[in-house]
Amino acid sequence: MSLRFAILGAGMSGVLTAIKLREAGFDDFTIYEKADRLGGTWRENTYPGIACDVPSHLYSYSFEPNPEWSHRFSPGSEIQAYFEGVARRRGVLPRIRFGAEVTRGTFTGGRWRLETKDGRRDEADVVIAATGVLHHPKLPDIEGLDTFAGALFHSARWDHAVQLEGRRVGIVGTGSTAVQITSAIVERVAKLSLFQRTAQWIMPQANPAYSEAERAEFRRHPERLDQLHAELGQLFAAFASGLVDANSPQMQAIEAACRVNLEQNVHDPVLREKLRPSYRAACKRLVMSPDFYDAIQKPSAEVVTEGIERVEPAGVRTRDGRLHELDVLVLATGFRVDRFMRPMQVTGRDGLELETAWKQRPSAYLSISIPGFPNLFMLNGPNGPVGNFSLIEVAELQLGYILQLVERLRSGRAGEISPSEEATQRFEAERTEAARHTIWGSGCRSWYLDDRGVPASWPWTFDRFRAEMSAPKLEAYELS
Ligand code: NAP
Repeated sequence: MSLRFAILGAGMSGVLTAIKLREAGFDDFTIYEKADRLGGTWRENTYPGIACDVPSHLYSYSFEPNPEWSHRFSPGSEIQAYFEGVARRRGVLPRIRFGAEVTRGTFTGGRWRLETKDGRRDEADVVIAATGVLHHPKLPDIEGLDTFAGALFHSARWDHAVQLEGRRVGIVGTGSTAVQITSAIVERVAKLSLFQRTAQWIMPQANPAYSEAERAEFRRHPERLDQLHAELGQLFAAFASGLVDANSPQMQAIEAACRVNLEQNVHDPVLREKLRPSYRAACKRLVMSPDFYDAIQKPSAEVVTEGIERVEPAGVRTRDGRLHELDVLVLATGFRVDRFMRPMQVTGRDGLELETAWKQRPSAYLSISIPGFPNLFMLNGPNGPVGNFSLIEVAELQLGYILQLVERLRSGRAGEISPSEEATQRFEAERTEAARHTIWGSGCRSWYLDDRGVPASWPWTFDRFRAEMSAPKLEAYELS
């Protein structure tokens, strides 16, 4: 049976889906992309210093190794160019409808009817939502933000027209983003004020460049890249799997490395105490940096730990009454991580609205599919492995799983596939219970936590995730 697919989003997962659908013999698909360029998070985040803290030879599609990576952790612009290059070489570009935001999807008569913002319509048998997690900027609720007289923007909306040289720049936040920006701009600005609500553990992470000789070697021996991908995958899985057991040896090693980094590399004892977190390392998403502590000890840098009272035209007023005068204010305040394909309005079987299904919080069976929403599958959906894993590997495994379900649609063995309510609730109960014992649940505030304070992530090892993704358990599904 021939099937038509709609892919939502042309980021890393959407491009992957197009390639893998074609390999599986499906050629009737369109990727809907609201922007005018592919790349997802790498298109949107162009702030100075942006890089990926997953090693580049792992943060690559397994089937598209890249001998040209410049660094162990390559900058965002290279990653963006990589995805564009893969999409071009693999013939994905003509299948992307740019500037087409899908605003509504309704399951009726056994198919998904889709509508875009500009009023165009389409129908599909299967929808694959590849809409990303860290996508909708979260603006802080700080009084007076709109009164600021200088330049003000969120880190994912960087205004490159704004000059930084010789200016007084404030950064709100101390997550991975703020840390990368700080290191990148501290020497360019006249004054950098880092507004820290919570200190972060910093995992020291060297970022050596690959020499031309090394890259030539990779070009000559592509099999070495496959080997490197596999080795890094194993190393990373072992490291990240340690996070799900708050008392694992990996956790102890991470904590020790972060502690030594702080003790040895921050020299002023007052600053050291300001930068010392009061919770366990990796409770928040672990921040990796080779040079943040160097940067923050430059004479032009200041860590402001006093709480923000309000923003005024001239700068940021902290609770001690001090005005921090600024020309530029960057909000590195993270993302709304509970949105997924929303604000799209999604209506499943019998008129069930996604807003109703997710009234309490987003959930999905194995983070992939939702009861009552047949033939709709998500990549990097709710409660998936977001904790320091390579999201490319995650998406590849999820897509392999989804394609096995889709095979049942193609062969006619099923017409509609969605998980049962019972299987989903059982999965959620087990996941929630396990999540409480992970390092993310060990007592800190972070974007991992849902409205109950439970980590919204895969709480087991990566090996378990891989095993779970190897074959769907059909008894968990309603196949009609
Ligand atoms: P984030 O980790 O959510 O950090 C947001 C920061 O803003 C926190 O320090 C938070 O303080 C602060 N904040 C939020 N509202 C505030 C307010 N009203 N007043 C003062 N401070 C406020 O965001 P992110 O740094 O953009 O990173 C998000 C995720 O993106 C990362 O965890 C990571 O998964 C991914 N990322 C990855 C890389 C990479 O290299 N792979 C790079 C960048 C980002 P509190 O800590 O007190 O809440």
